[in-house]
Amino acid sequence: MTDLEILEIETVVRLLSETPRLTFQARYEDCTAITARHLKDGSEFLFALIKAAIESGVHQTTLIEDAVSFLDEAHLHRLAFFLQGEMKRGTDVEDLLSHIMLQAPELFPDSALATSYDFADWQTHADSRSPPACHHLVFEGGAPDDPSFPTRVNHPTWHLPTVGQPFTIGGEGASQCPACGGRLVHLITLDDFSVPNLSLPSLRIETCQGSLQATYYAHDAEGRPTAIAPFHSDYELPSEPAAHERIVRLAPTPPRWLRQSWGASNSRQNLFRLGGLPSWVQGPQFPLVPGTERPMKFLLQFDSLAGFFWGSGGMLYVFWDDESRMTCHVPQYT
Ligand SMILES: [Zn+2]
Repeated sequence: MTDLEILEIETVVRLLSETPRLTFQARYEDCTAITARHLKDGSEFLFALIKAAIESGVHQTTLIEDAVSFLDEAHLHRLAFFLQGEMKRGTDVEDLLSHIMLQAPELFPDSALATSYDFADWQTHADSRSPPACHHLVFEGGAPDDPSFPTRVNHPTWHLPTVGQPFTIGGEGASQCPACGGRLVHLITLDDFSVPNLSLPSLRIETCQGSLQATYYAHDAEGRPTAIAPFHSDYELPSEPAAHERIVRLAPTPPRWLRQSWGASNSRQNLFRLGGLPSWVQGPQFPLVPGTERPMKFLLQFDSLAGFFWGSGGMLYVFWDDESRMTCHVPQYT
């Protein structure tokens, strides 16, 4: 650690500690700028910063929690043990711990994981310690939209190494919503590489952004969708134009990012995912194939970013059943 880096840590901790609150915004921006210089290759700096923030009692801020995502594996492990020691001494490090539990649950006993609100959804899964594999959709050009948060622009989940051919997401769908008459929005068109055991040549996912509850879509032999009785609330949410077309590629999700909590992600992490388990906004909601007791398979989830917008700004989860050739689109929002 250089003298400059030690000085930078002292500066961040001092700025986070100071009063009056009126100028907190400005001081926070200074801290963000200093921290941003170390996101790409500064694990040792960030580890020292988090420890210094805890020792000064200023660790319960988004900036310090965001820093956890940028630690290398060795520092993540060291921080996990440091935090467990702090917890025994009575320090409130619950939020920081919950980030590490999601990213490295192998470092914790089941009893510790059970205390984490963010881990609760995962524990309903048959084997919460080995969640199903998934892929991230990585956007060409990196994180979409507002680049004002360095911890979003640089978050590792927007920059995972990709495989295979590009996919186009967004743009106008081919058909209309029978409830509101609006044009459907194209999410993505998948093939049998991206959907194992797909019996169709391709599967085209289109949805009505105005639909506020779970809606089923029937797919024809070519994979083209037709909405079935979509529900529209009387409560008018602003209608969004169809998202512009964007190019994405699939990235096999590394173990560290298999469990992404919508809350802990805090609009920083890439939650555009194919397969795995959903990052629920409101808790698990797995739909059944209509007229059966058969649960549908989770296919993908899209965040409210890159021109997509769900409810008041939540997530859209899409489920698939190959036998009935139906998808179910479940929006959740706050
Ligand atoms: Zn509609």
